[in-house]
Amino acid sequence: MSSNSRQNAETPLLKVSNLETAFKIDGEYHNAVDNVSFSVKPKQIVGIVGESGCGKSVMSLSIMKLLPKHNGEIRSGQVDFKGKELQDLDDNEMNTIRGKDISMIFQEPMTALNPVFTIGFQLEEVLFNHMNISKREARLKSVSLLKSVGISRPEQIVEEYPHQLSGGMRQRVMIAMAIACQPQLLIADEPTTALDVTVQAQILELLKEIQEVNDMSIILITHDLGVVAEMCDEVIVMYAGRIAERASAEELFYNPKHPYTKLLMGSIPKLDEEVEKLSSIEGIVPSLVNMPKTGCKFVDRCPQAMAECRELTPQLKEDNVNHEVACLLYENSFPTERVKVSK
Ligand code: SF4
Repeated sequence: MSSNSRQNAETPLLKVSNLETAFKIDGEYHNAVDNVSFSVKPKQIVGIVGESGCGKSVMSLSIMKLLPKHNGEIRSGQVDFKGKELQDLDDNEMNTIRGKDISMIFQEPMTALNPVFTIGFQLEEVLFNHMNISKREARLKSVSLLKSVGISRPEQIVEEYPHQLSGGMRQRVMIAMAIACQPQLLIADEPTTALDVTVQAQILELLKEIQEVNDMSIILITHDLGVVAEMCDEVIVMYAGRIAERASAEELFYNPKHPYTKLLMGSIPKLDEEVEKLSSIEGIVPSLVNMPKTGCKFVDRCPQAMAECRELTPQLKEDNVNHEVACLLYENSFPTERVKVSK
């Protein structure tokens, strides 16, 4: 590899810096994404994990500038995609990027597909939006896209409507639409959650194949660490709008540090163990309006919480090479004698 191409491989495709996204509720702004920074390199698969309400999906909608207009807002920070500051682009400029350079697939393809149009029509729409091609070329390309995502009899499927397909087939169609213009970045938001286990595995396999063939980067948003273990190079664990931990997938699984990550690990089913009931994390993620104003937002659920955790906000710090964690247990300046919080 030449030093130039090595440098290119290291230059991030996407760089999110100090992103704050808020929703206005009863006249007050509440941060759903709170000072988040991370980057995605070319050909990298970055997993973003956490329970519902941790800010994962809001972050992806912020990157795509698809926040609800009536109350969602990027309040500060930058989203740099190949040198372009996306937060400064208007709707028209974003429309040229969405679908062409960055695509997104969602959990429930039925809500993203239009039930009144055929699969072929919807695929061709994507192609016409970004490419100057004839109707015939668009139809041929649609058929070949469906074939590339493992759909048999694609010539018939282009004539069918979304409700005529199974959940797995619909998700394959969504993937075909998302890769139609060969984007460099795909954001997959819980792409397999609505599918049964066998189909989940097939869709993940397909995403991985497509990523390799097209040299694409993927941000994979999921609540499932098992999916992350299968797929990702790097993992970001989010809690209550902030990054709790970030590391390579290997490092995170062998050496989890944040108490939240450790608890999430405990909820992964293990094939070689007879588990009667999966351990789940007690309590719930605080809602936007009930977010603690100071201290660690995980304090009410953390088995290692200390009195100081209610006062001091942990900052994301590099604990090891390429491993960052936001927890007072890992802050050097923290007093060695720690007091456990009584609950
Ligand atoms: Fe738990 Fe305190 Fe660390 Fe937060 S800062 S995760 S409450 S130990």
